[in-house]
Amino acid sequence: MIDAERRTALEALAAEVRVCTKCRLHAGRTKSVPGEGDPDTEVVFVGEGPGFNEDREGRPFIGRAGDLLVKLLGSIGWRREDVFITNVVKCRPPDNRDPQPDEIAACAPYLQRQLTILDPAVVVTLGRFSMGTFMPGARISQVHGTVRPVDPATGAPAALVFAMYHPAAALRTPAIERESYADIAAVPTALIDARRRRDGAGETTRPTPSTEPVELETARDIPTPPPTADDPAPQLTLF
Ligand code: URA
Ligand code: SF4
Repeated sequence: MIDAERRTALEALAAEVRVCTKCRLHAGRTKSVPGEGDPDTEVVFVGEGPGFNEDREGRPFIGRAGDLLVKLLGSIGWRREDVFITNVVKCRPPDNRDPQPDEIAACAPYLQRQLTILDPAVVVTLGRFSMGTFMPGARISQVHGTVRPVDPATGAPAALVFAMYHPAAALRTPAIERESYADIAAVPTALIDARRRRDGAGETTRPTPSTEPVELETARDIPTPPPTADDPAPQLTLF
């Protein structure tokens, strides 16, 4: 699929999500949150579900957890517009409670279809519920920062999954925040590995994001590098 076809397919799916009533979470939502990002990206980040701010705006990761996600991405020289960001459930659970198994199951086909459209090289899971979709039975304390092949039944036909803690957990616990910076520093390498696997399978690679190594001085508070002339800003598509 070329970029324009991906964009159109993602927009059509987002339109379905906006009016979906397949589980009880639709009743309490202000806006559903299909996800957003570069339709031509190689990397998809999957969180848990919308929170208060996301529910009001219809966009993923725009509150405090989102600010930290942007800082984590900045530490490897990436911007949120370079990747695609979505969630396991597309509507906010009341009072930010955990999504329930039947809600996750009802919403799973949307994530599965997004992954089929995007065909990412790497899926980065944020938190336990997202990890549970891609690494069933794993424990986040053991698998964070590691990769394994994605079961094609999840929708991503040829991806590696990379597990991270949820940024909200990192906001609560400084040690988890430090581990999150260390973990995300390994994502570009995972992308190179994933590209290699796909090349072996006769796939072509897509151009973004960059896997140029980034010098890390300290893990914290590294500013997002501004776009440069040979790195034009990819279009931010809001669904
Ligand atoms: N937490 C999530 O898991 N997803 C969001 O979109 C925002 C916060
Ligand atoms: Fe539909 Fe998913 Fe929202 Fe449930 S959470 S109503 S399945 S979009």
